[in-house]
Amino acid sequence: MQVLVVGAGVIGLAVARTAALAGHDVTVAETTGGIANGVSSRNSEVIHGGLYYPTNSLRARHCVRGRRRLYEFCAAHGVRYRKCGKLVVATNAAELAKVETILAQAQENGVEGLEMVGGNAARAMEAELFCIGALWSPETGIIDSHDYMRALWGELEDNGGMIAFETPVERMSYKAPQWQVRFGGSDPGVIAFDAVVNSAGLGAQALARRIEGYPADRVPRLVLGKGNYFGFAGRPVFSRLIYPTPIDGGLGVHVTLDLAGRMRFGPDVEWINEENYAVDPHRADSFYARIRSYWPGLPDGSLVPDYAGIRPKLTGPGEAPADFMIAGPPAHGLPRLVNLFGIESPGLTASLSLADEVVNYLAA
Ligand SMILES: Cc1cc2nc3c(=O)[nH]c(=O)nc-3n(C[C@H](O)[C@H](O)[C@H](O)COP(=O)(O)OP(=O)(O)OC[C@H]3O[C@@H](n4cnc5c(N)ncnc54)[C@H](O)[C@@H]3O)c2cc1C
Repeated sequence: MQVLVVGAGVIGLAVARTAALAGHDVTVAETTGGIANGVSSRNSEVIHGGLYYPTNSLRARHCVRGRRRLYEFCAAHGVRYRKCGKLVVATNAAELAKVETILAQAQENGVEGLEMVGGNAARAMEAELFCIGALWSPETGIIDSHDYMRALWGELEDNGGMIAFETPVERMSYKAPQWQVRFGGSDPGVIAFDAVVNSAGLGAQALARRIEGYPADRVPRLVLGKGNYFGFAGRPVFSRLIYPTPIDGGLGVHVTLDLAGRMRFGPDVEWINEENYAVDPHRADSFYARIRSYWPGLPDGSLVPDYAGIRPKLTGPGEAPADFMIAGPPAHGLPRLVNLFGIESPGLTASLSLADEVVNYLAA
């Protein structure tokens, strides 16, 4: 089939590579001039274990399976990663009870190697840490996500696929037996495809509304959950990822590491109405308070505004977190069309597993 994938983020690239490996003739259309210019360039680069997500949810299933696939892919393709492990820490009895429920959920999800450790054992692992107990997840890691996305792009091209940059998809309609897709950009026109995957990240809902005949009530709302990061101006003190107990809308201001061992903190959750990526330095005040609950030694003046990313959420403050939404033909009645909505964390981790499911839908 001639397959069009909209968006060259980690999801579009993974889908495109998998479709090309399955023998399809794949084109990726991307609005910007390069890969990974959207949500995929502004995240924590953590390979998540799959601890938190409800049993049988898409997030649980694709995170656990995607993680295993991602480690194999990194090893086979020379993508840099480190399985550094993560501690989810409890600083009081109420948090400890919550961490124990996370352990039970994670075991339900099939996450390997989990262990509850006491405060002293946690401090033996990370000397600067304060906690009364923690959940140790040895399968969690970090990845050079740009390396990963370049490797996906390479495999796509090796299998005959290509990316058209500065080529926004404007609208499309199904005229049996093909999709007629209108492109904008400097060389606008209409091209026919057999199948289309909308993996446009923050643009997925806007594009779905421009698909002729797509049921309007099947386009979920888009809620922007901005996550701000602060860098640490000092010598790193942790060598593992440290997460507090989760908060409403996110996993809490955690310690993330890059492959050079540098430490940064974030993301928090800031509900916004329009895309903007500025980090307000005043947000540092709440970061100090939250980080000091598990790292009392955090020095004054050591946090510097770094970057922000935006989660394409489907639900807002006070509402239950939504699952990924993979809207294939059974969801909307149109043939060989898959819309991906709400692909926030752990989308990077889940990408290879999600790609398999999406490519299976295309044949339907
Ligand atoms: C703060 C934050 C932290 C995160 N941390 C992690 C983490 O540690 N681990 C993890 O597993 N996941 C994490 N995630 C989730 C992960 O980053 C996302 O799930 C993933 O990057 C989504 O990729 P995507 O391809 O769907 O979107 P994007 O990367 O945004 O790609 C979509 C692309 O579509 C293009 N586009 C849009 N509209 C059109 C159009 N009409 N025509 C053509 N192109 C179009 C855009 O330009 C963009 O390049 C995090 C997310 C955030 C926001």
